[in-house]
Amino acid sequence: MISISRINKKLDRIFGGKVRAALMDGALYLVGGLSDWNDVVRAGLISVNKKKYTVVNNIVFTGGKIPPTKLPSVLDESLEGRRPDVLVIGGGVVGCAIARELTRYRLDVMLVEKEHDVALHASGRNDGMIHPGLDLRKGQLKKKYNDAGNRMYPRVCGELDVPFRYTGQYLCFTGEWMKLPAIASLLYWKSMKIPAEYISRNKLMEREPHLSGEIKFALHFPTAGVVCPYGLTIAYAENAADNGAKIYFDTAVTGIEVKDGNIESVLTNRGRVYPKLTINAAGVFAEEVARFAWDRFFSIHPRRGTNIIFDKKATFLVGTIASLFGISDAKKNSKSEHSKGGGIVHTVDDNLLVGPNAVETYEKENFSTDRESIQAVLTKQRKTAGLSERDIITYFTGIRAATYEEDFIVSFGKHTKNIIHAAGIQSPGLTAAPAIAVDVSRMAAEFLNAPANENFNPIRKGIVRAAELSDEARDALIKKEPDYGVIICRCEEISKGEVLAALRRSVPCDTVDGVKRRVRPGMGRCQGSFCGPHVAEIIAGEKKIPVTEVKKMSDNSMILLGDNKESL
Ligand SMILES: Cc1cc2nc3c(=O)[nH]c(=O)nc-3n(C[C@H](O)[C@H](O)[C@H](O)COP(=O)(O)OP(=O)(O)OC[C@H]3O[C@@H](n4cnc5c(N)ncnc54)[C@H](O)[C@@H]3O)c2cc1C
Repeated sequence: MISISRINKKLDRIFGGKVRAALMDGALYLVGGLSDWNDVVRAGLISVNKKKYTVVNNIVFTGGKIPPTKLPSVLDESLEGRRPDVLVIGGGVVGCAIARELTRYRLDVMLVEKEHDVALHASGRNDGMIHPGLDLRKGQLKKKYNDAGNRMYPRVCGELDVPFRYTGQYLCFTGEWMKLPAIASLLYWKSMKIPAEYISRNKLMEREPHLSGEIKFALHFPTAGVVCPYGLTIAYAENAADNGAKIYFDTAVTGIEVKDGNIESVLTNRGRVYPKLTINAAGVFAEEVARFAWDRFFSIHPRRGTNIIFDKKATFLVGTIASLFGISDAKKNSKSEHSKGGGIVHTVDDNLLVGPNAVETYEKENFSTDRESIQAVLTKQRKTAGLSERDIITYFTGIRAATYEEDFIVSFGKHTKNIIHAAGIQSPGLTAAPAIAVDVSRMAAEFLNAPANENFNPIRKGIVRAAELSDEARDALIKKEPDYGVIICRCEEISKGEVLAALRRSVPCDTVDGVKRRVRPGMGRCQGSFCGPHVAEIIAGEKKIPVTEVKKMSDNSMILLGDNKESL
């Protein structure tokens, strides 16, 4: 039996009668009003009882205005009346991986993404770390999918031609007294089947000579790895498209028509579609999609995380992934702070990525960075290695889609039958995505009684990176296609040929940032100030549009407003 009066007494004590709880259909609904967002989140977190119900937080936040969802400016009827077997909502790594896995079956698959490209939300704004699963517990879906996903990475990245490395991770300790508890943890991790070993200070310094002198010993986890998160998402989307999935950008789901517990149709800004099955992979908006589908049994509380990227000249500091064991001050001070603690990641593209922090927010699409977060990340991670502010080239913020239970939801709807939710996919969602996709596509195929697609081709060829070829191979390529000899990005040594290749793939790309995320011009020290105009011109030439119409990232992100010397 669940004692609602006990929960209400607790809420009364903390929030002075401003919040009430009521249980309905296996979900605990919180109602009331609070002016501090951290209190809204706290009310949700203290009401959790994972075994008994899920928390739906309906508390009205009175201390600010929650911004409306950003919607595409396009409005047309181009999708009106379409009847796909499966509609996937969301072009993050989870939605794109699901779309690809669905094409293993004879199914008509449609994916809609409200942004102008894939991976513009969490899937393009994370650490790119393939987690060994240190902070996960038995029984969690996170653990199941993280462990399975981690093991799948070499095969999936091999098939999709995406660079991936098991670099290993060092969890570093600064106090000798920590040795006993660390060894106890080591035994625990081993019992959880996570490969781990103790590393003495001398051995650590042989392997990672630039880590802080304060570090006394470390634990090593060889199954930690690195991948480019947006590179993988793009590859999944391209392989899905190559196998017949239809992918539509600037297409937002704005409503769902439900009758007798079934989705009849899904409304988008490009018309109404009639899928047999809908898959909710909408990240921080998964709760809204569930609400549209009359199937809201969970809540998402978005959590920001800011990362710093360092120039390649700082890369020598850490060759793998290193983090310091400890609880951040923020975590000590706030019960609502959750983070894997972050660290210094030597990325697959050979930059250092440092962070992230974790801050609750009611703004689901505010990706701005702020001084406080950057300072907090830097202060914390400098204890691991001697990072210099002068080597910072950029920062970014991503937003995690956490449920109050802090676990993934991968299931059919509770009240609506023809929907599968892949929701609450916060960290380690990148690691878990390949395994989630396999399960969700199996569930979908069984539901629709779909046979295997004998023509499915798991292989996708990536874009050739000319600078990584041998001199002979590069020479031969340039002789055949001279555009590969025209360098347009000096920092990353990217040729015009690579930019053109990025514009001619099966998933459309026509923005400067889209090209940047596919072949890296603008990722280096100068951050695009040299190559940006060249990329815009190449896009204009290829798409046969005036250069003033080339966009940075989205439909309305203009770069050039017009000519300033019209007579010349
Ligand atoms: C700072 C940070 C660091 C992280 N580090 C790691 C890490 O190192 N390793 C790891 O394993 N995980 C990490 N994660 C977690 C990982 O990034 C996420 O779990 C994963 O990207 C989630 O993917 P997704 O596809 O579910 O969501 P998203 O990538 O958010 O995709 C959801 C998509 O749905 C679209 N959408 C929403 N609503 C609609 C609608 N109505 N109509 C159409 N489209 C819609 C959105 O535009 C978005 O593109 C990190 C996350 C953050 C924020």
